[in-house]
Amino acid sequence: MQRIGIFGGTFDPVHNGHVAVARAAVQQLALNQLRWMPVGSPWQKQQPFAAPQHRVAMLQLAVDVEPLQIIDEREMHRAGPTYTVDTLEELAKTMPDTQWHLIIGQDQLARLHTWHRWRDVVAAVTLAVVGRGGVDPLAGEAVQAAQPRMERLWMPPMAESSTEIRHRLFRGESIESMVPEAVARYIDRHGLYRWADPALG
Ligand code: ATP
Repeated sequence: MQRIGIFGGTFDPVHNGHVAVARAAVQQLALNQLRWMPVGSPWQKQQPFAAPQHRVAMLQLAVDVEPLQIIDEREMHRAGPTYTVDTLEELAKTMPDTQWHLIIGQDQLARLHTWHRWRDVVAAVTLAVVGRGGVDPLAGEAVQAAQPRMERLWMPPMAESSTEIRHRLFRGESIESMVPEAVARYIDRHGLYRWADPALG
């Protein structure tokens, strides 16, 4: 049995909070591999600001230096809304002897019961939940009542959010301590998010 983590998100852009979550997951869950899974077309969230190729390029800059971590672009290549359950079914077919861990922040756990076929998602994985500042550590009763396989990841709270980073860039403020250095350079070089009006999300 191999142990693989799936870390999904919009990553618009990837930030130091994400990097810390991924590292904590690899270590604490003793993963053989962690797959960052950038969403193609989120069906519950505002569409991403940066184009898919930019979001992937930034992920590569953040992830290429991390042992055991790879980027899995399958959801970006799938047409239509991105449903995690489709991804899990696809993966289970090609990699049967695997214990899957779905890595999510507490904010996502609180919403998980609204995901498409969420009970099938929960049945297919062990949830690995990490706390997030400003989110009740008990949030997510609906899912927890279903008694999922669930583990907690521990790390010092990280305040970064992609929304805050986009807002700062829109206001022309620095984001240097919030994202890996190479990502900050990429954002600057491509002029990303300067037009990302906070009123839009
Ligand atoms: P946005 O601000 O646009 O909603 P985000 O910062 O939440 O973006 P996502 O790409 O939506 O980033 O997050 C992917 C996953 O990472 C989610 O499960 C989210 O809960 C988790 N996550 C993001 N930032 C943090 C953080 N600072 N600490 C812990 N978990 C985080």
